[in-house]
Amino acid sequence: MARQLDYHTMREVFTRFQAAEPEPKGELEHVNAYTLVVAVALSAQATDAGVNKATRGLFAVADTPQKMLDLGEDGVIEHIKTIGLFRNKAKNVIKLSRILVDQYGGEVPNSRAALESLPGVGRKTANVVLNMWWGYPAQAVDTHIFRIGNRTGICPGKDVVAVERAIEDNVPVDFQRHAHHWLILHGRYICVARKPKCGACIIRDLCQFEDKTE
Ligand code: SF4
Repeated sequence: MARQLDYHTMREVFTRFQAAEPEPKGELEHVNAYTLVVAVALSAQATDAGVNKATRGLFAVADTPQKMLDLGEDGVIEHIKTIGLFRNKAKNVIKLSRILVDQYGGEVPNSRAALESLPGVGRKTANVVLNMWWGYPAQAVDTHIFRIGNRTGICPGKDVVAVERAIEDNVPVDFQRHAHHWLILHGRYICVARKPKCGACIIRDLCQFEDKTE
């Protein structure tokens, strides 16, 4: 695990990320808070592109919890059967839609605890929704962020909650809102798992990783 980068280095890292991509966006397609919750819940162990392909048709017929209930579990399965774990995910989508209708008037609640209480919605999903829909600086730590946080020293931690805390504690507040997306994009396209593209990396001189590639 690399050591935590100091304040000035952190500012420089995020200044460069911001210059390269001023308004980073998530890649999961959605039309409202509800469809974002469903899309993120479906994205576990699946690619964003694969989820988008499935949800385009699904959200065209069901973009509210009530419409999803009307479609029913079999109807949901028809749309998402190209995604991994689709049976279980379809069950959860129906269950969470039922809870939203019965307990939240069909709206999506915006506290982490309320979101996490929904079937199929974990801490990561809740943080993505808080960040992307409500603009709250919540830090969802996925496999990319966990890897590069520890590799580079941007946000080292022994588990995802420790990495989440490292981001909250060490990323200057003016960069908190977009930190999640900058880190994901960096991990997805440059600081990739097996052979990071250090030769093309804009933070190469700031990163602590000892085995940089050319
Ligand atoms: S220099 Fe290499 S290891 Fe460091 S952040 Fe860039 S791509 Fe990742």
